[in-house]
Amino acid sequence: MRKKIVAGNWKMNNDLGQTEELLSKLLKKMPDTEAEIMVAPAFTNLRVAFDTLSQSAVEVIAQNMHFAENGAYTGEVSAEMLKSVGIRTVILGHSERRAYFNETDETLAKKVDTALKHDMTIVFCFGEELEDRKGGKHFDVVESQLRKALFHLKTSAWKNIILAYEPVWAIGTGETASPEQAQEMHKFIRETIASNYSEKVADGVSILYGGSVKPDNAREIFSQPDVDGGLIGGASLKAKDFIAIVDAI
Ligand code: 13P
Repeated sequence: MRKKIVAGNWKMNNDLGQTEELLSKLLKKMPDTEAEIMVAPAFTNLRVAFDTLSQSAVEVIAQNMHFAENGAYTGEVSAEMLKSVGIRTVILGHSERRAYFNETDETLAKKVDTALKHDMTIVFCFGEELEDRKGGKHFDVVESQLRKALFHLKTSAWKNIILAYEPVWAIGTGETASPEQAQEMHKFIRETIASNYSEKVADGVSILYGGSVKPDNAREIFSQPDVDGGLIGGASLKAKDFIAIVDAI
């Protein structure tokens, strides 16, 4: 059985005080669940989050990292730096990184290789834009994103990969993919992995859905057979909403 996962991507929100407040609410109220729960605070708050949640089942993960080991990359953070504060999992390829920071499939392939070299787990994000969907190109776009950033990997690397399908038109817009649209794409993703690797690899990889998941739509989306959980933006900033979404898995 593959893992069910609910991850909160806090993006560039919450200063230290707000982070501590949210962490303490989560710590008090987090339900017992078989699912893996993750939260991704900003870099400056990773350490306090790691320390606060170290006795809990909630994993603290990073939102990004650089592909280089170290060096003259002002403003960047390396895999070693993340590992030195206890972080073992990193989100790569978020559409906001692609759109605002020019991250390409090629840069992402390098980041993926570096994270794996450090034995980190990757939550790899990808998804089509509205125009792609309107033009009927969404399957092609998704296939290309996966191929360029991930399909050079060896079979054994896939145990460290979690996929997060996030259609760009559904992120922060309040417009979510319908459960049928999510299922259709997740099934396509799994079939694409099966044909490039094997049924075994495809069956083992958790595929999360992200894009305007809220307490009132989470259960229906999570009930789809190929949806293994969610990557939650806005709703993960409110403890009550995030916990309700965790309850829905
Ligand atoms: P929203 O849940 O705010 O739409 O964001 C989704 C997302 O980008 C998670 O990474």
